[in-house]
Amino acid sequence: MRIRFWGTRGSLPKPGRATLRYGGNTACVEVRTASGGLIVLDCGTGAHELGQSLPETSQRPLRGHLLITHTHWDHIQGFPFFAPLFDASTEWDIYAPGGLGKRLEETLAGQMEYTYFPVTLEQLGATVRYHDLVEGAFEIDDVYVLARYLNHPALTLGYRLEVGGASLVYAVDHEPHAGHDTEADAEEKTALPVHQEDRRHIEFLAGADLVIHDATYTLEEYSQRVGWGHSPVEYAVDVAVAARARRLALFHHAMSHDDDAMDRIVAGCRERVRARGGDLEVFGAAEGQVIELPERQPRRAGGVDDTARRITAGGVGRRTVLIVDDAPDVLSVLMRTLQIEGYRLLTADDGESALRIARAERPDLILLDWILPVRDGLAVCRALRAESDPKLRDVPIVLITAQTEPEHVAAGFAAGATDYLTKPFKVAHVRSRVRGWLLRTSASANGNEAGEPP
Ligand SMILES: [Zn+2]
Ligand SMILES: [Zn+2]
Repeated sequence: MRIRFWGTRGSLPKPGRATLRYGGNTACVEVRTASGGLIVLDCGTGAHELGQSLPETSQRPLRGHLLITHTHWDHIQGFPFFAPLFDASTEWDIYAPGGLGKRLEETLAGQMEYTYFPVTLEQLGATVRYHDLVEGAFEIDDVYVLARYLNHPALTLGYRLEVGGASLVYAVDHEPHAGHDTEADAEEKTALPVHQEDRRHIEFLAGADLVIHDATYTLEEYSQRVGWGHSPVEYAVDVAVAARARRLALFHHAMSHDDDAMDRIVAGCRERVRARGGDLEVFGAAEGQVIELPERQPRRAGGVDDTARRITAGGVGRRTVLIVDDAPDVLSVLMRTLQIEGYRLLTADDGESALRIARAERPDLILLDWILPVRDGLAVCRALRAESDPKLRDVPIVLITAQTEPEHVAAGFAAGATDYLTKPFKVAHVRSRVRGWLLRTSASANGNEAGEPP
């Protein structure tokens, strides 16, 4: 695999003298396989230069695959300026998280509406196929792709690409699920995180030759930005070390981090790796930088279960969500947030009625407050997990609580919670978390009968 960074920043392009070395463009990474395959990760403003280079570096007719993590501006703003899309001889397959009601094509067309842009999506000359993805696996030619939901206020997928024994993970626009404590001593830092989703994140990165990871903030900056969906650099280092990855590219540089700030951040990260006794190589992703990951063995395509393409035709709009909270203000915020998604909503304000409603209505997801009258959230979790109805035993339960201490988080998972969201939460986070769990469960419940990719 040959990887080239065309845009490394997050949020907003930052051209100018202070960003010459690490670059000023937003997220776009080119991946070439030994067999000539072309995969583009995200389509931020860096995609413009990439598009200019492709006629010289590619065979004709040009064929490419574009993997979009999510449709926040900094990941799609280069799309209308990506020249190969206007070339009738080229073919593109475009993939992004789906099942959100609005399909990928409509979302991309949105930023090209007359008000914002003079050319519409229909005017693109290339043959373009759109693919909605959920968490799971699929293949692009001889490349095995694993898509995994990340923790971000919009539903976001990270991608792990494997070919010929070489592996690359692209995990941007993600923040730790259970905070990140820099003061913990070295022994605690090497222990696995208590939040199950943080553990899954480390599994996702496991043994990768290169991890391109969100590293938007320093830990100090992150303390003021919890819930914004981005990682402190220290977390990126710690998960990459825990995953025994070989190299870590800090990515999605903050608007306020110029070249000098990036040099200091990279030096700090290397110091952190040394202090932990790791051999991880850390660098700040720089525009124009090329990384080669040798492919050690040939890989034949086929044999992969296409789980990432199993999206139900109707999406998740008509699913039932039970919200359990005794605080009327929290209940009404959650109701208003989830009503927008078109779910069927049920509510309860104590543990006993929560159980009664769950048994009668068999919801697809439960948002559950920990502290409740009659029976608390943990008791409700345990009772549901002991039911004879498999739907209730397996229903995703997202525990919502202000308890952030590791022992509390661990107790929540031990009681049978599927996920753990700490208050104060951002409503956008609740939306993306609920969507993610509903999509995950609908994809696995639908098995082979699920729809074909569009
Ligand atoms: Zn971003
Ligand atoms: Zn984003």
